This record gives sequence, C-alpha cells and structure tokens, in this order.
Amino acid sequence: MTLEKFRTETREWLQATCPDSMRNRSIHFEEADAVYATDDAHAWLDAMAERGWTAPRWPTEYGGGGLDSDHARILAQEMAALKALPPAAGMGTSMIGPTLLDYGTEDQKQRHLPKIVKGEVRWCQGYSEPGAGSDLAGLQTKAVLDGDQFIINGQKIWTSGADISDWIFLLVRTDPDAPKHEGISFVLVDMNQPGVSTRPIKLISGSSPFCETFFDDAVAQREDLIGEMNKGWSVAKRLLQYERSPGDGGARPSKKGKQAANAYADLAKRYAGEQNGRIANAAVRDDVIRQTINERALQLTARRAAEEHTSGGAPGAATSIFKYVGSTLSKEGSQLKSTLRGTGGLGWDGPGFDTEELESTRGWLRDRATTIYGGTNEVQLNIISKRVLGLPD
Ligand SMILES: Cc1cc2nc3c(=O)[nH]c(=O)nc-3n(C[C@H](O)[C@H](O)[C@H](O)COP(=O)(O)OP(=O)(O)OC[C@H]3O[C@@H](n4cnc5c(N)ncnc54)[C@H](O)[C@@H]3O)c2cc1C
Repeated sequence: MTLEKFRTETREWLQATCPDSMRNRSIHFEEADAVYATDDAHAWLDAMAERGWTAPRWPTEYGGGGLDSDHARILAQEMAALKALPPAAGMGTSMIGPTLLDYGTEDQKQRHLPKIVKGEVRWCQGYSEPGAGSDLAGLQTKAVLDGDQFIINGQKIWTSGADISDWIFLLVRTDPDAPKHEGISFVLVDMNQPGVSTRPIKLISGSSPFCETFFDDAVAQREDLIGEMNKGWSVAKRLLQYERSPGDGGARPSKKGKQAANAYADLAKRYAGEQNGRIANAAVRDDVIRQTINERALQLTARRAAEEHTSGGAPGAATSIFKYVGSTLSKEGSQLKSTLRGTGGLGWDGPGFDTEELESTRGWLRDRATTIYGGTNEVQLNIISKRVLGLPD
C-alpha cells in the first residue's frame, strides 16, 4: 500500500475508532490507572491490539503490527494529530518487549510478547536496591539455581507500579564470587506468588507510584532467564537504552500541539499581564521563549533521529543525550510554570487556589524525579563522556 493511501485509511480508522475520552489529551503516568480502567480505554486497547498497533513495529508473529519505519511514523503522526492516548502505555511495550525481541529465545518471545501487545500483563522493573542505584552493578538480590528454578532472596526499591504489576524483570546476582558486572543475571518473575511482596512508598507530590519489593524464597523458572547465566549486564544495559530512547519525537504537531507549545506564553500573560499581545514583563518573556525553543528543538531533534534511524536497529549510548536533555527540560518546564503562577504556584490544598494551580504544585514536585529515574543526570553525563565522546575515565 502506498504511504498516502495508508495515511488516509489510518486517519479514517482512527477517527472512527478512538473514543472521545481517549483523545485530545495527555496524561501523567501517575493518573494512568484511573484513565486506563474505563470501558473506553478497554475498547481502544482491543481495537488497536487487533491490528497489532499497540506495538506497531514488532513482527506480526508476536502480535505486533509489522510496520516498517515509514508506516509506523505515519501511524504516530496521525495519532498525534488526534492527540490520542497510547492504547497500551507502560514498561511492556517500551522496555521489556523490545529487549525480548533482541535477547529472548523464540519460546520466550512466543510466551510473553503477545500478552504485552494485548495489554494482558503489566510489567515493572526490578533494578534498584537500597544499596545499588547509580552503582547498579553493586546489586545484592540473590538467585540460586535449584533444578529448573531460581530461588530468589533480597530487596528492590523504587519499583514503579510493583503493587499493581503481574510480572517483574529482575536483575539478580547469580555468581557472588565473580567481578560485580559478571555475576548478574536477568530473569522474569511472576509477581503472583507468596514469595513476592510489595510496600508502596509515598512521594513528596502526595501520590505513591512506587514500592519496596521483597523476595523471600521467590521462584523464577529457568526458562525465564533472558540471555546467558551471569551475562545479564548486557541485557540490562540494552533495556536501559530502550528506557532512555526519545520515541518518535511526538511526530507532526497538530494545531492543538501548537497551542500546547504556547502554554507557557498563555500562562505568563494570564499571571504577569499582557501588553499589545505580548507578555508584559521582558524577563518573563525571555524565560518563556527560551523554554519553548528548547522544547521544540528537542522534539525536532528526536524526530530527526527517529527518521534517520530507519534500519530499526537497537538504540545505543547516545540515548543518554535525549534522556539528559529531555528530563532536564521537563523539570525546568514545571519549574517555569510554577514560577509564572507566582503565589498561585505554591498552593497545596484548601481555598484560594484553583485545581490547575494545585496540580501545578504537584507537577512541579513530581517532575523533580525526572532527572533521577532511568539513571540520574550525572550518570547520563558519565555515559555520554565515556561511550559517546570516548573521553578517558
Ligand atoms: C520516580 C522514580 C521512579 C523510579 N522507578 C524505578 C523502577 O521502576 N525500577 C527501578 O529499579 N528503579 C526505579 N527508580 C530508581 C532510580 O533508577 C534510582 O533512584 C536512580 O538510579 C538513582 O539511584 P539512587 O536513588 O540510589 O541514588 P544514588 O545512586 O545514591 O545517587 C545519589 C546522587 O549521587 C550522584 N552520583 C552517584 N554516582 C555518581 C557518579 N558515579 N558520578 C556522579 N554522580 C554520581 C547521583 O547522580 C545522585 O545525584 C525510580 C526512581 C524514581 C525517582
């Protein structure tokens, strides 16, 4: 099918299929549970999964859409034009799925990928431990092979969504005597068993999106070891590259997208005043322009990178550049919105603040985390200097 015909058909199908409540909006991951629990969300997921469009580029034999980069980009552009929510957001499609495509056996792909495409299984990430964050290879959660099973003991922390997940991809130490990067394995663990328990941790923003996760003689099947025993570090790094990938850069901006890009200007005019259609205060104007240009530049660069990267190969260390710039801008954007609101950007509760202002405060606090999760900014800079620029230690 020609690209233009595919675009027309895709646009018509999306218009007819995407429920109103699943379009013209964006959501933060902390609200996702409520939004994705509706009948509309289920209908949207089923319709998209039927076409494999929850994972458009995955091969059709695993339930994916089998689209090449050009067709996938058109789908992304048409979804962006509708501001349609992704039907199956989460670590399944963005992190463990692509990693299984690279490292999984045929049996592992067949067992796990179709369930991700259909949104039947929710995944979480068991990397960080109380004593191993940036120094991830220092992890101590232990797995001992006993026949066809691993017996796992230890603790993970900051596990996003662990209390509502079905499976966890887990880094475990399988050889305590080997150098620390060489004794790690990557296993998939069913969370629905007595040996796995979770305890939610509350964030400063008031919500509780992540947990402590405990393993007390928890069991994983040997057939769910990804890659070779004690060679899990390579698998773990590849998954992190997928986690840090910029996606398709938001595809083509719609008119609504343009309005969203002016959100800072609208806010500034509302709070700091307006003169002849411009933000009244010159210093505020500078801040708004700088943030808007930086966000737009990142979006365009991500799109260019996605378009240049037509081979569909795995991402590399350069994803750290997008992670660093993206998370920094996201944090600065929330900070700017709070600043523009003045005292209205400091409300937490009670009268005197509207809902938007209260959400702004929570968003500002929440976005402090963007330069921490997925690896801190300092860690990204270390990776960029060593692996991208080739600088010495
Ligand atoms: C909202 C949120 C969600 C998360 N979700 C998950 C999840 O789902 N699964 C999961 O496994 N983890 C998750 N994490 C954990 C996250 O990956 C870690 O917090 C992160 O890797 C940092 O580790 P740490 O908190 O132990 O900090 P530390 O590693 O103790 O770092 C403390 C400070 O020291 C700096 N630092 C450390 N080492 C170096 C170095 N070599 N050079 C320069 N500076 C350095 C860091 O940049 C940081 O500023 C999440 C975190 C947050 C905030």
